Order: sequence, then structure tokens, then C-alpha cells
Amino acid sequence: MDLGIKGRRALVCASSKGLGRGCAEALAEAGVDLVLNARGAEALEETAQAIRDTYGVSVTAVAADITSEDGRARVLQAAGDVDILVTNAGGPPPGMWSDWTRDDFIAALDANMLTPIALMTALMPAMIDKGWGRVVNITSQSVKAPIPALGLSNAARTGLTGYVAGTSRQVAPFGVNVNNMLPGIHATDRAIQLDGGVSQKEGITVEEAKARRELTIPARRYGTRAEFGAMCAFLCSEHAGFIVGQNILCDGGGTNATI
Ligand code: NAP
Repeated sequence: MDLGIKGRRALVCASSKGLGRGCAEALAEAGVDLVLNARGAEALEETAQAIRDTYGVSVTAVAADITSEDGRARVLQAAGDVDILVTNAGGPPPGMWSDWTRDDFIAALDANMLTPIALMTALMPAMIDKGWGRVVNITSQSVKAPIPALGLSNAARTGLTGYVAGTSRQVAPFGVNVNNMLPGIHATDRAIQLDGGVSQKEGITVEEAKARRELTIPARRYGTRAEFGAMCAFLCSEHAGFIVGQNILCDGGGTNATI
């Protein structure tokens, strides 16, 4: 399918690896020029070069922490006006409700709620002026069904979801479509890190921890970054103009809910 976005320009945050990289690759395949971001310069430059080589699009790489004001300012300056914004950042650590301090909550809210809001606030006015824009926020299945050990993530991402529910309806009249993607378990460093935590806590191997988690997913496997990226590219496409303020689960059926 021609996604109708060849020649458009996208900022994809936190995209040297994992789900962000999957989104960047799928947009590049659709002919979109990219601004990529991650903290680690080496992996970021490798990803940027691999995408240039494979898809022939222009790729600007900005090594910066997207959750810091200074990092965000550098990314926004390099990005200029974009047609498409994909927000993403690392997720908060797992833990126990009784251990989390105010500072832990502020850090989680900063990274996973206020950072995407700041990026939308900075970039949507130009999209509105042009009469066309797409925003996809990478959140989590924990928005639909809480993951108890990820209370910091549950809290921050649900706050973002509430913001998007209203704001997406304020910008839709101007051709700007904002939606969220809710990943279930995908085969990325983040998933391997969570498997490692389970393995240590329960005294089992990482492979056993992974096998156990796979059994909780009706598809009986982890998702891939390419599958995730393909949905993101569709939501950023010309064809998604009537999709507003939605929360799209990509979880292999892991969230046991009717709607
Ligand atoms: P990942 O494989 O660990 O990749 C994270 C990417 O984001 C890397 O490129 C990393 O590069 C970059 N990054 C992290 N923090 C950043 C920051 N502050 N500023 C800029 N770049 C940053 O993670 P993932 O699995 O793709 O997960 C992406 C998001 O989806 C996370 O918020 C995660 O919690 C959420 N999620 C993932 C899953 C899953 O199963 N994978 C499920 C539900 C939700 P640097 O480290 O070099 O910055």
C-alpha cells in the first residue's frame, strides 16, 4: 500500500533501538525523511546510517536526552517544522508502590507524560498552520490494564492518555491527527531487561522467564519492532485522517479485554 507520505518529514524520538527504531524504519520505507534521537551517539549514528543505506531517505541524528529541557531544545532546533512526530522515551523502572518517592513520580511524569506534551506543544502549531500533521505517542498496554510492578509507568502514561483524549479533538479540525500506540511485550532490550529482573527475582534463567511471559500472550510470542513500526507508519499515513484520539493496542492479544 502506498502510504501517501513520501517526502514528508518526521521526528522520531528515542529511536536508535527497539520500538522507536521500528517506527523510524517503517516511515523511511514509506519515503519519509527523518530526524532521529537517542542519548547514545554511537548506536544512534549506526541506526541512522543503516536507514540511509537501506531506504535512501535523509536522516539527521541528534544525540540528546529527550526528557531534559536542554536535550529537547537541541532536538527541536535540528528538527525544525516536521509533518510527523513520534514520541517515545525509556520507561520507568519496575518496583513496589511503597518504595516510590515524590522524586520517582516527578521523573516518570517528566519522561513519559510531560516530555511528549512539550513536544506536541512545540510542533503542532506548524502542523496546524499547514493543515496536516500526524502524532503518534508510544505508551503501553499498561494504560488499558495496569501492570502492578510498573506503577510509575501506569500513572504517567495514563496522564498522557487523558491529555491526548482531549487535545486530539482540539487539533483534529486543522488536519492534525494524534493517536497513541500501546505496545504489549515486544522483543527489544526493554523486554530482555524485564525478563532479567524476573529471572533474578525468581531464580530462573532468562530463557525460562521469557517462555513464561510468552505463555501469557495469546499469540505465544513477543512482537517485533517491524510489526509495531508498520502500524505506526499507517497511523502517520494519508489513510489515517479519520482516526482521532485512539489507543491502538499491539499486544498479540495479551490484554484480556473486549474493547
Ligand atoms: P529499548 O529497546 O530499550 O529502546 C529504547 C530506545 O530509546 C533506545 O534507542 C534508547 O537509546 C532510547 N532512549 C531511552 N531513553 C531515552 C531518552 N531519555 N532520550 C532519548 N532517547 C532515549 O525500549 P523499547 O522496548 O523500544 O521501549 C520503548 C518504550 O515503549 C519504553 O517507554 C517502554 O517502556 C515502552 N514499552 C515497551 C514494551 C516492550 O515490550 N518492549 C512494552 C510496553 C511498553 P539510548 O539508551 O541510547 O538513549
